[in-house]
Amino acid sequence: MPPEPRRVVLSVDLDEWYHCRWATGSPGSRWRDTAEFFREHYRSDRPAGELAEPTRRVLALFDRLGVKGSFFVLGEVARFYPELVREIAARGHEIGCHGFHHVDIDLLGPEGFRRELAESCELLASLVGRPIAGYRAPNLLLRDWMIPTLRAQGLRYDASVCTSRALLGKDFGHDHVADNPYRFSDAFARPDPAGDLVEIPLPTFPVLRLPAATGILTRVAGRAWTLAALRRALRTGDAQYYFHPYELGPRPPIALSLRERLFLRRLGPWMEEAVEAIALRLRSWGARFVTAGELAATVGTSS
Ligand SMILES: [Zn+2]
Repeated sequence: MPPEPRRVVLSVDLDEWYHCRWATGSPGSRWRDTAEFFREHYRSDRPAGELAEPTRRVLALFDRLGVKGSFFVLGEVARFYPELVREIAARGHEIGCHGFHHVDIDLLGPEGFRRELAESCELLASLVGRPIAGYRAPNLLLRDWMIPTLRAQGLRYDASVCTSRALLGKDFGHDHVADNPYRFSDAFARPDPAGDLVEIPLPTFPVLRLPAATGILTRVAGRAWTLAALRRALRTGDAQYYFHPYELGPRPPIALSLRERLFLRRLGPWMEEAVEAIALRLRSWGARFVTAGELAATVGTSS
């Protein structure tokens, strides 16, 4: 049997509701990019600072739980909120890279990816005073040609593989991969025990292989849905759950379609209680919370 207790990464993507795929950064998005959204919504070239309050709610929640988490920060967000990024790091959490702008990888292309990864990692490293070790892809979309670029940037792990089947026009492309962390070298979806990089995947719902270990699915499908996936993953190894600060905040002040309302349901106190309850349940199962960087450093070793 594998060693106990299991380890769980609680991770946070530091971005906003308007970085969601339906809003910006994908071929069918409502606004071409955040610059267009900022002009239309704020009559400005920058947001008004709404992300700080829900992020501090996340930090207070992690303090109550005694959890050190991993925050994957968008370069764009770090540019608007440098003090917030410094504060997160100063409170003992890990800062990882979430790209610079929140754009589908196929829109960005190899040269755009290389440039944005470098700009984002350099900005984040300058804010926190240490190199960045981890990456999460915007919209969890990965291509294997990204791997040499991640390696060249000095990254040690990725935390983007969602082992789900395709859903609502989004093909994650990893439906056969294990729910637990593994080493890899040439392909995100091909474990390689001798690989120099680590993948920390997001577990899916058992049998159905649908997304589950994310805040969005906790809100859409319920707490039990997420817990069932994490419980199954913890039978075979370590696991990860992630959510966004905006999910602890108010509903966006714009007109929303039915589908957008579904993706944004149960924001605010409902979600804050759900994350706390999920963490407490995980702990009652014997899980120990670690940062993604701490976990990555031991994957595939005999610890
Ligand atoms: Zn994101």
